[in-house]
Amino acid sequence: MADDCLFCKIAAGDVSADTVRESEEWIAFRDINPQAPTHILVIPRQHIATLNEAGPGEAEMLGRLLLAAKEIAAEEGIAEEGYRTVLNCNPGAGQSVFHIHLHVLGGRAMGWPPG
Ligand code: 5GP
Ligand code: ZN
Repeated sequence: MADDCLFCKIAAGDVSADTVRESEEWIAFRDINPQAPTHILVIPRQHIATLNEAGPGEAEMLGRLLLAAKEIAAEEGIAEEGYRTVLNCNPGAGQSVFHIHLHVLGGRAMGWPPG
């Protein structure tokens, strides 16, 4: 757990969140400022600040985050219609919380390219 990391605090239960699903390795909760009717964040319990800091040892964990996103999309009823997974890396891409997180967005039409 990193000092002063909001998402480490959510993973530890020290900051409350609307959790939808969790495992020993990750936790998924609703975004506080949703950008779509369904907007869920899937985060590893392990603190990794950005994708740039992830190494080969995290490969399986990162893959399981994507599989969690798939299961969550099915539970939320957006799997067939379509949904988007996003992992912003560094401020130039819009990252504002420096503990990696996979956004799962759906429930509305999505534009491309993203802004
Ligand atoms: P980023 O911009 O880093 O890719 O995404 C961070 C996300 O975390 C944003 O969508 C933001 O709304 C969300 N967020 C920030 N603080 C909180 C919080 O305290 N609780 C929850 N549930 N989401 C948060
Ligand atoms: Zn953290």
